[in-house]
Amino acid sequence: MKRRDALKIMGGAIASLAFADSIGGSLRKSASAEERPIFHKDLLSPPGGKRVIVIGGGFAGVSFANTMRELAQDAEVILLEKNPFFVSGPSHIDYSVGLKKLEDAARSYYPLREKGIRIIKTEVGGIIPEDNKVITGKGNITYNYLLIATGIRLADEEILQLTENPAFNAHAWELEGTIELRRRVEVFKGGKVVVSVPSAPFKCPPGPYEMACLLDEFFKRKGVSAEIIVTDSNDKPQPPPLAQKWLTVFEKKGIKYMSNSKVVEIDGANKRLVTDTGDKIDYDMTTLIPPNKAATFIRDSGLGDPYVDVDPTTFKSKKVGNIFAAGDCAKVPYTKSAYTSIYQGKNAAHYTAIGMGYNVKEPAPIHGICYPYTSSVESMLIRVDWEKDGKVIKAIADDPKSDYRDSRTVWESTLLKNLFGF
Ligand SMILES: Cc1cc2nc3c(=O)[nH]c(=O)nc-3n(C[C@H](O)[C@H](O)[C@H](O)COP(=O)(O)OP(=O)(O)OC[C@H]3O[C@@H](n4cnc5c(N)ncnc54)[C@H](O)[C@@H]3O)c2cc1C
Repeated sequence: MKRRDALKIMGGAIASLAFADSIGGSLRKSASAEERPIFHKDLLSPPGGKRVIVIGGGFAGVSFANTMRELAQDAEVILLEKNPFFVSGPSHIDYSVGLKKLEDAARSYYPLREKGIRIIKTEVGGIIPEDNKVITGKGNITYNYLLIATGIRLADEEILQLTENPAFNAHAWELEGTIELRRRVEVFKGGKVVVSVPSAPFKCPPGPYEMACLLDEFFKRKGVSAEIIVTDSNDKPQPPPLAQKWLTVFEKKGIKYMSNSKVVEIDGANKRLVTDTGDKIDYDMTTLIPPNKAATFIRDSGLGDPYVDVDPTTFKSKKVGNIFAAGDCAKVPYTKSAYTSIYQGKNAAHYTAIGMGYNVKEPAPIHGICYPYTSSVESMLIRVDWEKDGKVIKAIADDPKSDYRDSRTVWESTLLKNLFGF
């Protein structure tokens, strides 16, 4: 993409950002009229050569920033995050059915500040790789090295009627939807509940099936008569090593499973979902997870579409030498999960530090562990180990057990402790 085209797109992105921060600032005098919208003041003075910017304070970004702080003690580490605080994604599931309070899964960024990581609360609207610049709602920032860790973007626009009518749906793949889903679950009087699964890859592959199981249990316990239906865009439940186990669990619980049923329209007025084959599925309550994509500025800055094209070992961009990406926004063979995102962030920091000239050892390859709920008292196990280059070495899956449910609780609190110290 030509620089001028990229700048025009960035201008549009900035104009459309819902910034709480004021954009303001003086326009660069030399900018042409066409370029002007993107130019506002530089937020920080130019970097000294060791400025590392992190976009996104989720599992990957926080892990990267912490590791960078340890490995490159004289580097300037700055994390840009649009949300006021962190909330752990896995706990969205627990909260939706009343198993956990949200505040128990929330953390402030103060523990990072105390380590010397600078946190700037702002939304990033674009990157100009050739200028080493990030465009934020508070001004432009120049970097020496950049990590993109913005997670996934939910592509509501791919479901007809959804962008215009967000209230037709509530799902746990983002925080506001999670809070609304909790409310809807609590007041539900009975009927058909449709859980709709997007095409893989998506964030937390077992998540929608966990949600179906927990909703089923919740309504049965409450004495609410509910028929749970899973409409899946995929040909089998995800991730593939758990596919047969999910089908067995659904059969036992009486959950109806529909494969190859990709929802393309939500007709909320008539409480009806429409699939790509034209099937119509009526519902009384739905929790539809839209297709998972990544921030549009990734595509607009030429770094990949929709995910950032990176080397699966080093997490370095295949296009630009001083840009790295980790976690759900990176095009890697690893599961889009909290667990792998922590390790991706850590490994990306090692390779960034190596690139900056620090004497740092190469890290171990990525692995993933997860304990998906089949009920509030039982979880399954899935563990995947990858080679350095991203090839799967082995995948282990095991049936539901109460021990795995206990492990899940320890697992998530260990992840949070790893990132925030408690
Ligand atoms: C319901 C649910 C259940 C899950 N269960 C599990 C589980 O059991 N096990 C597991 O391992 N994983 C689970 N996950 C998945 C896990 O939460 C994600 O895979 C993980 O959060 C990805 O980490 P990340 O850092 O890549 O992205 P995120 O954690 O999504 O972080 C991205 C960050 O970037 C910020 N950001 C985005 N765009 C911008 C911007 N333009 N400017 C500034 N900041 C920006 C966001 O605000 C966010 O803080 C679950 C997720 C959900 C939703």
